Amino acid sequence: SARQPAEIGFGLQAFARPPGAPRLPRIARGEGVWLIDTEGNRYLDASSGPVASNLGHGHPRILAAMEAQARKAVFAYPSQFESEANLEFAERLGRLAGPGLDRAFIVSGGSEAVESAIKFARQHAVVIGQGSRWKVIGRQPGYHGNTLGALAVSGDEHAHEIFGPMMRAVPRVPAPLSYRLPPNHTVESHARACAAALEEAILREGPETVLAFIMEPVGGLATGALVAPDSYYEAVRQICTRHGIKLIFDEVMSGAGRTGRFLAADHWPSARPDIAVLAKGLSAGYAPLGAALVSAEMVGTVAAAGGFMHGFTYNAHVMGCAVGAAVLREVEEADLAGNSARMGALLRQRLEALAAHNPLLGDVRGLGLLLAVELVADQNSRQMIPLEKVAPSRVQQIALRHGLALYCRRTSRGAYGDWLMLSPPLTITAEEVGILATRLGAVLDDYAN
Ligand code: PMP
Repeated sequence: SARQPAEIGFGLQAFARPPGAPRLPRIARGEGVWLIDTEGNRYLDASSGPVASNLGHGHPRILAAMEAQARKAVFAYPSQFESEANLEFAERLGRLAGPGLDRAFIVSGGSEAVESAIKFARQHAVVIGQGSRWKVIGRQPGYHGNTLGALAVSGDEHAHEIFGPMMRAVPRVPAPLSYRLPPNHTVESHARACAAALEEAILREGPETVLAFIMEPVGGLATGALVAPDSYYEAVRQICTRHGIKLIFDEVMSGAGRTGRFLAADHWPSARPDIAVLAKGLSAGYAPLGAALVSAEMVGTVAAAGGFMHGFTYNAHVMGCAVGAAVLREVEEADLAGNSARMGALLRQRLEALAAHNPLLGDVRGLGLLLAVELVADQNSRQMIPLEKVAPSRVQQIALRHGLALYCRRTSRGAYGDWLMLSPPLTITAEEVGILATRLGAVLDDYAN
């Protein structure tokens, strides 16, 4: 009999899995928004995996670029060789990200990019004589990666309980979740209070000890595609500027065209971050790739002081860069940010129509094709689904039977709510949006019965 994945050694889903966890379909191949298992079942990829496969599966231009690069060189260590792939990728990325974020430290994923962003900000502070600044304020809930540093700045109580003590001195301030508002608050006043909490935390810690504030401009899984009122972004930017603190946007999920602009930051030009972190959609899942984007000025300062004291074997990996360059070429030439805005609006309409006659669906939120729906026990009271009903994993299981691959989350053991990410590849067509919405409706009907 075939050995089970847990016996062989798999990642996340299958490594040290609890007994009785359902079997996962075994992937055979992918075609556009479709994933096909070894038994021939077809699943519409409603989430791009963990919001990564922005160009869908089996994209012929990306495959051609990979093959061409593989025939030339796959790896060359960047302290020994330059590569055309690296130069093209960095040039395209800098141009798309724009002034102030046009230098890239290129790594192999989101967590590494977050670590690199923080270490770069830290070394920069030391170089300019602000070595007392080391604290990084994050948000609760929030997620920035699973390495120890990135996890330390993530607002995930459950993970901190298991892996702590870690950088416990690092404070967190509330993310402006607005579906369940505190008494006597509007969305605007709550967002104002959340921004004010940032300034209070900075003052409490001592501004001279605070290095950075990290947040997702449009939330991913941790906050279920949270978008704050415009005033929140402006307030956060002003507070950081006032206290000499670097504003870091984690755009691991929201970047690379996902929200309808190349960076989610582009929606709020007056709240431009000092550093942005990209991964996932940057390579659309075709290679492990991430980047910390900073200004030429910061790079110049650190370079003049002897260079960045940081690096990985797979920095600026040649194959990764070739994939990144091909992905960015496609994002630009096929106007995938534009398609994301158009298809996102269409999908949102369909989700709102579903919510109108499906009592399980509470909030529908997000921007472009970074959307989420919040599942509730009761639409009127906005009550969460009781923990014992294991909402997200059950929905995910039911969805497979309907040919839909969903990405779901219950945050911090149900402290904030249950949501499903609706974040299909940016290449999705209107017809496929229709199929996705129809199938999701059927999944929710099944769940309710
Ligand atoms: N930041 C955010 C917002 C993410 O969603 C993720 C991954 N889910 C990460 C960082 C970490 O990225 P990676 O898994 O590539 O290390």
